Amino acid sequence: MSMLEDAKKMLDAAYKYAQIDSETWERLQYPIKTLTASIPCRMDDGTLKVFKSYRCQYDSTLGPCKGGIRYHPNVCRDEIETLAFLMTFKNAAIKVPFGGAKGGICVDAPALSHRENERLSRLYINAYADFIGPDKDIPAPDMYTNERTMGWMYSEYQQIKGGHPRDIITGKPIALGGVPGRTSATGYGGYYALERLLSDKYRQKLGIANKPLNEITVAIQGFGNVGYWFAKKCHDKGLKVVAIGDQFGSCYDPNGLNYQECKNARDAKQPWPSGVMLGIQDILELDVDILVPAAIEGVITAENADRIKAKVIFEMANGPCTLEASKYLEDKGKIVSPDILCNAGGVCVSYFEWIQNRKFDSMTLKQVNRELRHKMHYAADRVIDIAIDTNTSLRTAAYILALKRIGTAIECLGTKNYFKDQ
Ligand code: NAD
Repeated sequence: MSMLEDAKKMLDAAYKYAQIDSETWERLQYPIKTLTASIPCRMDDGTLKVFKSYRCQYDSTLGPCKGGIRYHPNVCRDEIETLAFLMTFKNAAIKVPFGGAKGGICVDAPALSHRENERLSRLYINAYADFIGPDKDIPAPDMYTNERTMGWMYSEYQQIKGGHPRDIITGKPIALGGVPGRTSATGYGGYYALERLLSDKYRQKLGIANKPLNEITVAIQGFGNVGYWFAKKCHDKGLKVVAIGDQFGSCYDPNGLNYQECKNARDAKQPWPSGVMLGIQDILELDVDILVPAAIEGVITAENADRIKAKVIFEMANGPCTLEASKYLEDKGKIVSPDILCNAGGVCVSYFEWIQNRKFDSMTLKQVNRELRHKMHYAADRVIDIAIDTNTSLRTAAYILALKRIGTAIECLGTKNYFKDQ
């Protein structure tokens, strides 16, 4: 089964509650458009290599499509369409006025030189300049692309189209119209969503109703951008981060770890500075209150789900639990908080950047974090309300919310836009 077919199963449970018509449902089963391009790129040694690349616009009912561009050897059409599908429902669930998109190049990015990376990034924009656009499809960084990549891409787009179309791309350097706080946005946004799960309304469902904040234990798998900022916010707010891990191993201290010492050690390529050393997967099986997979997809599967002891699984990575594992955990009374809510802080701040660029304005870090907190609280509260009202999981509730928003908009647009009269 393709990744996209598998991902679409997440909609099934939401369909009966979302009250959308069958034609809208059918429409959302397929991406609007996927463009592929073979990109010939001159390498530093004078040879020519041809890279496969993709850009998928899954749905644009709620606004221009929005989604990152990733550089990875696994990039293929199915993966890009699946990620564009997830972006469609993430953007709808957190109520930013965007559809969903994703793009990528099949390339081993760390093996490229700086110049090769710049050349390839510019060539990508050359190939897709007429496909994307500030009112059509707005890219952003993803795996192995960053603000420097976005700077090159913006520069290339500007040279092709002229003017100062800063709203074509988000995640840019601040000097080119980026916003402060984009780097911490996904981690901080996740914490703001967690704040609402810990609110009185939902807390008893988590199985940690009577625990004071400083006794709530957290284990975080993945200590890159997302894991680090999430750990920092948890620590600053008084939660106890007892375990941190990456693909080389994990460390555990039931009394709490110093996340900054851990970060300094990892940046210096040193071993974890304290705690008991554990294997890569062991961190997932610790007896903690909140387990935060913040590394890669598919780490919790039917194979290891019965060994997960945490009461709450808080998905900061994209797709860390398979659907089967997620259902198993929920049947066991655990709470799985879904990726399309938990890690939406990044696209939320991208939205702020897009607005800032359209207004030729500039936001302060304080404004960004305040607005981010507000938006994540609002989204999490809506998801929690729906989960309580319909007695469904948080994942199903997030999809109900997103489906309803898209379905209502399609209805208001009139079906003629989508289904030409016979
Ligand atoms: P990153 O590359 O900065 O960090 C990834 C971390 O995961 C690193 O610590 C790495 O060592 C660790 N890791 C990699 N493979 C692992 C493995 N097999 N087992 C355990 N740890 C492993 O990436 P990131 O930006 O922090 O993204 C992490 C996840 O969050 C990804 O799934 C990404 O798609 C998702 N996400 C990121 C953002 C964002 O704004 N960065 C937004 C939404 C979703």
